[in-house]
Amino acid sequence: MKLQKIMLDGGFSCPNRDGHVGTGGCTFCRTDAFNPSYCRSSNTIREQVEAGKRFFAGKYPDMKYLAYFQAYSGTYAPLDILRQRYEEALSVEDVVGLVIGTRPDCVGDDVLHFLSDLKKKGFLISLELGIESFYDSTLKRVNRAHTVQDSLSAIHRCADAGIDTTIHLMIGLPGETREDILAETDIINRLPIHAIKLHQLQILKGTAMAKEFTRNPEDFYAMSIDDYVELVATFISRLRKDIRIERFAAAAPANLIIAPHWGLKPGEVQRKIEEKLQ
Ligand code: SF4
Repeated sequence: MKLQKIMLDGGFSCPNRDGHVGTGGCTFCRTDAFNPSYCRSSNTIREQVEAGKRFFAGKYPDMKYLAYFQAYSGTYAPLDILRQRYEEALSVEDVVGLVIGTRPDCVGDDVLHFLSDLKKKGFLISLELGIESFYDSTLKRVNRAHTVQDSLSAIHRCADAGIDTTIHLMIGLPGETREDILAETDIINRLPIHAIKLHQLQILKGTAMAKEFTRNPEDFYAMSIDDYVELVATFISRLRKDIRIERFAAAAPANLIIAPHWGLKPGEVQRKIEEKLQ
């Protein structure tokens, strides 16, 4: 049996955009780079899941689905709204679980209890936490509006609730050197996480970071594809062996990218990293 994630837009917002903790958002963020074509927040959750199932129909003979709340902060709403949206997704035939992307400062104990109960009922439940960096100086610089302590607290509380946890980390944020990035593996190896998604910093048109990059390009670690492959291979070789690698590189739409221009799809970057690891 194959599991396929179906991306959904749950109509959630982000506390770093709606004024709760900030208004400008993270300096690298461009939310329209998130969603695939079948995913429209104007449709109900059920309609989005059904559209996703049609999109992937026939990919494998025996498929089940995970409802993937990726856009914005997928736990940022009162519990009764979250419950209604998650349960609507789980009510669609062949949906066997949830993957929920969110910020570390949006993971309340009430949500964790609810997700833990869903897991006990037999659903596959996974949270993806946007950590991005384990340096407060970097988080401040890119206007994340949460701290490393928020990240550590969320990771430990997810583990205490028995939730499978994936962390996102961005490679190449301004101010971080190669050594800074590699040193993060020492922190990660001590944390009760299950998986990691790595992605290169992509500077996208229309973001605050694009302006910063234009003003001070020397502040950014301009990685060639070979630099990135070597760095990620070294990073992975230092990680605890039970940590799954769920992503090796990101891919925003090419017409939005200012830098870097590698001309490779994520799968091609992954192959280069795998070759390097071997
Ligand atoms: S990256 Fe996530 S947390 Fe940051 S502004 Fe965008 S949606 Fe909000």
